[in-house]
Amino acid sequence: MNAPDDEKGEDDAPALPSLSNGDVLSINGTDLLEKQTKPRPLHTESSLLSSMETCGKDLTNEEEREAIKESGIGTPATRASIIETLFSREYIVREKKSLVPTNKGLVVYLAVRDKKIVDISMTGEWENALNKIAEGKMDADTFHKGIEVYATQITTELLESKIEGGNQRESYPCPKCKNGQVVFFQKVAKCQNEDCGLTVFRNKSGKDLTDGQLKDLLTKGKTGVIKGFKSKENKPFDAAVAFDAEYKTIFEFPPKKGFNKKRK
Ligand SMILES: [Zn+2]
Repeated sequence: MNAPDDEKGEDDAPALPSLSNGDVLSINGTDLLEKQTKPRPLHTESSLLSSMETCGKDLTNEEEREAIKESGIGTPATRASIIETLFSREYIVREKKSLVPTNKGLVVYLAVRDKKIVDISMTGEWENALNKIAEGKMDADTFHKGIEVYATQITTELLESKIEGGNQRESYPCPKCKNGQVVFFQKVAKCQNEDCGLTVFRNKSGKDLTDGQLKDLLTKGKTGVIKGFKSKENKPFDAAVAFDAEYKTIFEFPPKKGFNKKRK
């Protein structure tokens, strides 16, 4: 901003006519302009630094907003190195002055954007709690327990969202709650509706269910017969995997060969 220019602008503006309530005025003309909204400009290093400093302004909880106002993300000493880490992990690259997210960076962003770990209100909560501990209004043990619960939650969340080459994950409507999507992860398939939480572990008696088998289970209620499971006694067996009435997985055994056939 440059103040002398602004003042000059004001001097040049024509004086406004005096108007009173209820005056009818003629309109000289109208134009229809077709325009497109522009995407938000890419961050530069300095704009990113300043939004790290001032983030949290939009928090709705006033105490949290106040608490984070002093700190933002990182500290003056660590903010620059946080950005350096984004470079060294190849999440962003520099193009002229702009910071451009890489494909890898976008994949990570999509994986974590709705997770607790990126929720700015969490930082606000912590700052707020630390202030209260400093003022003797909160017990440090309570805070510590809360952090343990939090660490467990985010670790679980992040393990479930293990990123593999940025492929779109397969997902199918949840047969249990009929509301959420069951998303396939490396070790589990899990309904994204938190109230439902339907979870299917891929590993069953020594075999991992493939995406196709999980799809059959979710869309048809059971897989085809899968060969080569191993019982606890290490005996191989063939079975279909199906849901029971509570959407737990059970084995369904095919009729024994020859069982229904007439003997020759
Ligand atoms: Zn569900």
